[in-house]
Amino acid sequence: MSAPRIEGHPARYWHALDDGRLQCDLCPRLCRLRDGQRGLCFVRARAGDELLLTTYGRSSGFCIDPIEKKPLNHFLPGSAVLSFGTAGCNLTCKFCQNWDISKARDFDRLQDAASPEAIAAAAEDSACRAVAYTYNDPVIFLEYAVDVAAACRARGLSNVAVSAGYIAAAAREEFFAEMDAANIDLKGFTEDFYRRLCSGALAPVLETLEYIRHETETWLEITTLVIPGMNDSDKEIAALAEWVADRLGPEVPLHFTAFHPDWRLRDVPPTPPATLKRARKIAQAAGLQHVYTGNIHDESSQSTDCAGCGARVIGRDWYDITDWALDDDGRCLACGTVLAGRFGGPPGRWGRRRAPLYLGAGRPIP
Ligand code: SF4
Repeated sequence: MSAPRIEGHPARYWHALDDGRLQCDLCPRLCRLRDGQRGLCFVRARAGDELLLTTYGRSSGFCIDPIEKKPLNHFLPGSAVLSFGTAGCNLTCKFCQNWDISKARDFDRLQDAASPEAIAAAAEDSACRAVAYTYNDPVIFLEYAVDVAAACRARGLSNVAVSAGYIAAAAREEFFAEMDAANIDLKGFTEDFYRRLCSGALAPVLETLEYIRHETETWLEITTLVIPGMNDSDKEIAALAEWVADRLGPEVPLHFTAFHPDWRLRDVPPTPPATLKRARKIAQAAGLQHVYTGNIHDESSQSTDCAGCGARVIGRDWYDITDWALDDDGRCLACGTVLAGRFGGPPGRWGRRRAPLYLGAGRPIP
């Protein structure tokens, strides 16, 4: 019986090897594929003499979220963002918190067909200020993401990438040129952590972070999921925070979020709130100006204080904006210091709501 025909959109970032295989150059895995094979991400596949993206134009669902949920605390605060993802992932994190999407193999979740123009129009009709490429890593659906992003920009909407930053140098420029903001997961700060728990590598992620910060206009925030016994030592957190302060700058926001037992790491307990608060103190001591906790309820560590005078400039209760003391250009009303980030007038009023959105015949993210 012959193998099923692979269909998809022509993929970029690959080349032919002398031994007849095709090498995908999109991410540091550099998968080498014979005809009919799929890469580790499962969504990029070889069909004859070309590589295809098999998920172009199909989504696992759409949802309108607060931008703070990405998390982005310094990018259009309070605004609504149309969020979507596809299927598959190029890392294999044992602690994945979105495994039903990222590990999808049968594509039964990909029921929401949507063209780039349809997504941009839906975002505009829903009064969203941005579209977020999230739920699974947008790096692996680069061709779809950049086409959606271009359609969004044409309507004056922004684009937000939520990614692990596991992308090869060749593809970074095209991808981040379309992104106005990015939250990059820095999953740990040792090669051992990335190798054992994600079957990946730390160095390319650090390169991506430096690239975004120093060679693009993309607003950058970082998230580290703190996992008990895995990446929560004082030493590792201090090393991570010192690297961010030194190589990226003290104004780059860092979010420490709580782990919940999931996927293949169900025997590890949830992160105690005290661990996140300890991590925050360590990062602040390293010089970072904006360090947040996530997945726990703690207004003081989720609000934003002015880096100049220490006044509370954005109060948050979960994803609700409760205080606002910035002018329309993002200056502190008390001392005039400009808050790092991208601000456009008063805060949005979306609040903490999460609204599923139907496009086509699909179903929403639950
Ligand atoms: S994007 Fe997918 S196919 Fe390409 S190298 Fe990475 S895991 Fe392999």
